[in-house]
Amino acid sequence: MGLMVVMSLDRSDAVDEPFDFRAWSHKAADWATDYRESLDSRPVRPKAIPGAIAAQIADAAPEDGETMESIFADFERIIPDGMTHWQHPRFFAYFQSNAAPAAQLAEQLATAFASQCMLWQTSPAATELEIKMVDWLRQAVGLPDDFKGSFQDTASSATLCAVLTMRERALEFKGNQEGLFGKQPLRIYASERTHSSIDKALWVAGLGQDNLVKIPTGPAPLFAMQADALREAIARDRAAGFVPAGVVICVGGTSIGATDNVEEICQIAEAEDLYTHLDAAWAGSAMICPEFQPLWNGAHRADSIVLNPHKWLGVPMECSLHLVRDPSSLVRTMAIQPEYLKTHGKDGIVNFSEWSVQLGRRFRALKIWFLFRAYGLENLRQRIRNHVQWAELLADRLRDESGFEIVTEPILSLFSFRHLPKDGGDANAHNLELINAINDDGTIYLTQTMHEEKFVIRFVAGQFDMQKKDVDIAFETITRIANEL
Ligand SMILES: *Cc1c(COP(=O)(O)O)cnc(C)c1O
Repeated sequence: MGLMVVMSLDRSDAVDEPFDFRAWSHKAADWATDYRESLDSRPVRPKAIPGAIAAQIADAAPEDGETMESIFADFERIIPDGMTHWQHPRFFAYFQSNAAPAAQLAEQLATAFASQCMLWQTSPAATELEIKMVDWLRQAVGLPDDFKGSFQDTASSATLCAVLTMRERALEFKGNQEGLFGKQPLRIYASERTHSSIDKALWVAGLGQDNLVKIPTGPAPLFAMQADALREAIARDRAAGFVPAGVVICVGGTSIGATDNVEEICQIAEAEDLYTHLDAAWAGSAMICPEFQPLWNGAHRADSIVLNPHKWLGVPMECSLHLVRDPSSLVRTMAIQPEYLKTHGKDGIVNFSEWSVQLGRRFRALKIWFLFRAYGLENLRQRIRNHVQWAELLADRLRDESGFEIVTEPILSLFSFRHLPKDGGDANAHNLELINAINDDGTIYLTQTMHEEKFVIRFVAGQFDMQKKDVDIAFETITRIANEL
């Protein structure tokens, strides 16, 4: 009844909507489809000069609205050529951030709701679908059903939550109240090859960089954290009056794919009563293929795991799965309930804002639902298997090519290589020159890392739509440009 009254209200005093939302929505959808089809013919990374794009944008917002025609024309003129095309099939840099078309479609629908999903009651469907999608993903990567979780914006946030949980657990959940002043320093352990988000989590959690104890790693190909060195570091710290709080375990590290022995590290952590967080931000997506699961053998013993469907799997940014074996420590660390956020009179509900730093949250589960239903797990597995196989193939071709050296072997679909200068000159400078020339060429896009004092070029296969021919083009491009230098 109340709704009927509202619907019959005269809305003519509302401020004008200056454009036809339906027509322009159609145009935007067409544009997105054309864009995707055009990617093959675009350079992967633009030849942008710093500041050149900003110079084309007005210095302040207009007082009077402009036509959508002119806004859209400027968009087409200025923006696409200034973008690095992350959905390009020859994007082999960093780690891919895939957006499968079905998931992108769901993202458009989530944008239509533009909902704020902080509590169950602020979007019941978003919360309940999230519970289900976390569980679909948990099953798909082969973890037992004692893991619960939520979708966070990024792995950095999930790792921060895990480090905060380590902190609170070690302080008997008094840190949030009392702060850290006057307390014994807490220590967290991780391999020297973990991602910078671990360092940052310790900064933000107030623990300090000096209390992140970096444990040396063992030999190629896995470069795993040395178990004995971990045990010794913990014992040394206890003797010195520090308080060990947790261990961050790495599977598929960003630089060259370094992978710890999860089972072994969890055993040590359990014996020491330390909380464990497994960072599998990139490699976690590959665990939908049973044959890759041995890489994180023992993951079921970790207290906390992060993996990014927004990397390899095909879910557009932002979607990071944070799984915890027992949510109570996490929720005890992160939940805060002022009266204005309470939901009265409802039992058995989950408020996912109590599982993370951010209060407001997007409707992320919808894109997972569309992705899994549109492709099915087998289709997604086949793509990842192809990527792994094609990366191995390229590594073998480069290995056989004179002047090239594989520096780190493929771990899943990531390996690193370098080209040796003919005159025996400075290899690091030579490879810097090589990667700049390759990326300016635009046919493919690669990034670099330092590995044991060597400047090396990383190659990651993993773009959602890539084909084997894209790896062939990569081989031709890399060898052609190296020979031209
Ligand atoms: C990409 C990556 C991260 C950071 O991921 P964000 O979601 O961008 O925060 C952390 N750890 C590893 C191993 C990664 O590959």
